[in-house]
Amino acid sequence: DSYLNPAYTFDNFIEGDCNRLGRSAGFAIAQNPGTTAFNPLMIYGGVGLGKTHLVQAVGNYIKNNNQDKFVLYVSSEKFTTQFINAIRTDSLRDFMSFYMQVDVLIIDDVQFWAGKEKTQETFFHIFNHLHGAKKQIIMTSDRAPRDLQGMQDRLQSRFKQGLTADLQQPDLETRTAIIQKKLQAEGIFIEHNVIEYLAHSINTNVRELEGVIVSLMAQASLNRREIDLDLARNTLRNIVIDSDKEVTIDTVQDVVAAHFNITVADLKSKSRKKEAVFPRQIAMFLAKEQTELSLKSIGYHFGGRDHSTVIHAIQTISDLVSNNPQIRETVEKLKGSLK
Ligand code: ADP
Ligand code: MG
Repeated sequence: DSYLNPAYTFDNFIEGDCNRLGRSAGFAIAQNPGTTAFNPLMIYGGVGLGKTHLVQAVGNYIKNNNQDKFVLYVSSEKFTTQFINAIRTDSLRDFMSFYMQVDVLIIDDVQFWAGKEKTQETFFHIFNHLHGAKKQIIMTSDRAPRDLQGMQDRLQSRFKQGLTADLQQPDLETRTAIIQKKLQAEGIFIEHNVIEYLAHSINTNVRELEGVIVSLMAQASLNRREIDLDLARNTLRNIVIDSDKEVTIDTVQDVVAAHFNITVADLKSKSRKKEAVFPRQIAMFLAKEQTELSLKSIGYHFGGRDHSTVIHAIQTISDLVSNNPQIRETVEKLKGSLK
């Protein structure tokens, strides 16, 4: 058994600026395992950014196109457990020779080996053997090799010997494509404005994006309704409340509109009336401060305004907060209501 999950493929891995280097190196390896300059390939990045998906896509591709290659995917923890068992049952020799027969070895989340001297030592020997025999090694980590504290220097330097590529937070375009792809895979159609709303509202990681899509589908089928903007807003709000996470843009707009006794529609409107302009600027300022959204996404949520408008609003309110105690107090009060 290769322990690969066949669901992770290149076909359903969306390429974007955030993952281009890792994806193309992975694809090159998939076609020529062991013989590219990318050996080892080290993919690193935060949680939910696609490390496991990408390295398994490489493994699946090789397995499906090269039946004679022995591809093995294993988490670093599993490797450690197997190693400890091998010592306990006096079968270290079998353990080593098993790993030395692998053609493509994929080790996920090597950061767990920090401080595990014996595991590191054993892997060092396996690594050298496989690398010397031009077998492919692929690893992932939640941080760059140089930041892997508790990892032996000689192992760290092996990790950096081939190609190191990081996966970053997906940009807007990639998020949009991922949402589209996931929905398409589920056979669900939703209006583009809903996709746009989701892509502008969730910018943490792909796993979170998927979680929201799953909840949306569940809500839609539970309530026997289409996935529209209202459902998307409510779902997002509930998820955030449930998990006690950061503030959403919708909450910012609700709180600010209620405080100034105007509607959320006023905040988003093109109106240049004073009653709307000042609250809108405050809401943009709070959105920048309290959410992780980009200026572009904030502009989107305020009736599709330009990011320069958002910058202007933020500067205006920052100045007022520094110089006007009354406004500072208003902003503080609004911040309190957001939590
Ligand atoms: P990590 O291992 O970095 O924590 P995963 O590989 O488990 O992240 O990815 C989390 C989820 O997001 C998985 O369901 C994966 O399929 C999906 N995912 C991540 N990146 C992409 C991408 N570029 N295209 C499509 N799906 C992605
Ligand atoms: Mg993972």
